[in-house]
Amino acid sequence: MNKDARIFVAGHRGLVGSAIVRRLGELGHANPITATREQLDLRDQAAVNYWFRANRPEYVYLVAGTVGGILANSTRPAEFIYDNLMIHATVVHAAHLYGVRKLLYLGSSCIYPRLAHQPIEEGELLSGQLEPTNEPYAIAKIAGIKLCQAYRTQYGSNFISAMPTNLYGPGDNFDLTSSHVLPALMRKFHDAKAQGDRSVVVWGSGTPRREFLHVDDLADACVFLMERYEGDTHINVGTGVDLTIRELATMVGEVVYPEATITFDTSRPDGTPRKLLDVSRLHGLGWRHRYELREGIAQTYDWFLRHQSEARMATVVPAASEA
Ligand code: GDP
Repeated sequence: MNKDARIFVAGHRGLVGSAIVRRLGELGHANPITATREQLDLRDQAAVNYWFRANRPEYVYLVAGTVGGILANSTRPAEFIYDNLMIHATVVHAAHLYGVRKLLYLGSSCIYPRLAHQPIEEGELLSGQLEPTNEPYAIAKIAGIKLCQAYRTQYGSNFISAMPTNLYGPGDNFDLTSSHVLPALMRKFHDAKAQGDRSVVVWGSGTPRREFLHVDDLADACVFLMERYEGDTHINVGTGVDLTIRELATMVGEVVYPEATITFDTSRPDGTPRKLLDVSRLHGLGWRHRYELREGIAQTYDWFLRHQSEARMATVVPAASEA
């Protein structure tokens, strides 16, 4: 891609968006176009149209949205469906209206049925019932895929979709009421160590299996797909390796506070039993992840220790938050 290309990263303050901005910077795209949520409410079609008309992006990374872990999804379902449906629709529509050359939309592995065949191939989409703990979010994310495909079919838009597995890394959300499991566990072990408390409580039974991808690997994959992928089908992005929540907790404990002991609060939900992505298509295109999990956890904890004052540690319920 031309170094002067006008690239819009929607959601640049979030975990994914900030990683994409870093990756683009490494590749010589020093100043992608961005807008804070104070400058632009992505749920407002008129405002988004106006902004596209004024800024004329040629390439769009649509990685904005309201995101969160199992608790936030259960307690704030209206925000999760409304914000995400609206953001996907307004940005895709404006990208069509204002002639964007290519758009990459980022979904989530929760689009797949709760009991999908493992590892989950892209073709499993809409083949069964969704996991109830995040169904509103998943429905919005599925709508995003269908938006891209519909605009591609009707208008010939070059809009592609990537479906990442569970993400973590620098810039993550460490607030225990809205975070995903990996940063939550990191925070719990860290706080226990600081308070001299040896016991760390892990939600659920510890038996669900999850796959984790470092956000810098995801950003690299997004840039790779923006440059090399033109297909109609969404593409899974992951490592192809998973582990149980118990194994994850042990690994995070070994990095952060090896003296701690783990207990399970089985009154908390487990969510989907397993969601391991089949990443053969992505591997076939020539992309592989770089960070192995233990190394990524150590790197993220190092970031956390250096950035505690600016890390997201408490819930801010914004007008339209960013992924
Ligand atoms: P999910 O992948 O959409 O289910 O989202 P999460 O990352 O929030 O949760 C993944 C799994 O980790 C679930 O089985 C949770 O019950 C479990 N888990 C264990 N401890 C925690 C915790 O402290 N926070 C969160 N968010 N999940 C936890």
